[in-house]
Amino acid sequence: MMSVFAGKSFRNHEQVLFHHDRASGLFAIIAIHSTVLGPALGGCRYWTYDDEAAAIDDVLRLSRGMTYKAALAGLAFGGGKAVVLAPKGTGKTPALLTAFGNFVNRLGGRYITAEDVGTCPADMEIVRGATPFVAGIANGGAGDGDPSPATAWGVFHGLRAAARAQLGRDDVRGVHVALQGLGHVGGHLARYLADAGARLTVADLDQSRLTWARDSLGAEVVDEDAIYDVAADVFAPNAMGAILNDQTIPRLRVCAVAGSANNQLAEDRHGAALAERGILYAPDYVINAGGIINISHEGPAYDRDAALAHCARIHDTLAEIFRRAKRESRPTNEIADQLAEERIATHTAGPAQNALRSAVG
Ligand code: NAD
Repeated sequence: MMSVFAGKSFRNHEQVLFHHDRASGLFAIIAIHSTVLGPALGGCRYWTYDDEAAAIDDVLRLSRGMTYKAALAGLAFGGGKAVVLAPKGTGKTPALLTAFGNFVNRLGGRYITAEDVGTCPADMEIVRGATPFVAGIANGGAGDGDPSPATAWGVFHGLRAAARAQLGRDDVRGVHVALQGLGHVGGHLARYLADAGARLTVADLDQSRLTWARDSLGAEVVDEDAIYDVAADVFAPNAMGAILNDQTIPRLRVCAVAGSANNQLAEDRHGAALAERGILYAPDYVINAGGIINISHEGPAYDRDAALAHCARIHDTLAEIFRRAKRESRPTNEIADQLAEERIATHTAGPAQNALRSAVG
């Protein structure tokens, strides 16, 4: 029998809920890792999993990451995540999304959902018809809608911090970035980097995105698997998780990894493997916190410039992690985990970001 509590991904979750709605065909899981700093915030992933164990593992890993992400961004949110197991045949119907909204609503605000891989702002508008506990949607000017530009803006500044630490550079002009994934985040990141004078080599599965990057940004295009072998300064993963593993790490020819993808390390030990190779790793949940930082500003007084300026401060958080990792000769992912755990243990979230709660409540 599969073990949940003793599984390696469980790691002190407060609550894990399984839900089936017969009428719509919904099978969904909500994992609430922690509400110590505030309501658990995390997106809803709609995905076809190989089996239920893979879905449980994914939701647990992602939800813990959200706790750490909010803690290190200094936000008054805990961490949670939802996955909807894509049904065979019917697809993502409004009835399915409404049933998911009802599931979220029954938690009374302990969990706040948002878009994630496989869901979009339009889906979240439907979910919002069933529950107010939805973030990351425009909501009549109280927010930005799509969190991806803010996420990319934070990654851009995090990548600057990595370039500074490894190359001693104040800007990214001429810095060569091997960029995997030109989707919602990767596309914006590629634009920010190109505008700042970086040199790009890109890979994606979608030919139209590659054509756009080549024609609009002057990017060099390589095959999907060749991106790991590109001799560059920085590798920026913006697609799937677990791409830093025993097979890929020996192939990397960069001095830093800085990208938006969640759960980049296949296992925690791969943080040490990168450090041993002299590759500076920007911990994923620190560098990709721009979306949640933006959400923390949502509310009637939403100010996009203020939200983006807040996202840019990811540079300073990472610079501190890099300094401490160097001083203590420890991998950056260990330092980040320790800092997040210290913040949770001492309840030192930044000034309460209550705008969202007043917006939804
Ligand atoms: P997306 O689905 O819009 O984009 C992913 C892109 O990666 C697509 O263009 C896809 O074709 C490409 N891709 C998939 N497999 C690939 C492969 N093997 N090689 C090269 N390209 C491949 O997703 P997104 O919203 O841009 O998110 C990207 C990553 O960032 C995800 O891991 C996501 O969890 C994470 N993230 C996103 C946000 C956000 O605000 N959207 C916030 C935090 C973290």
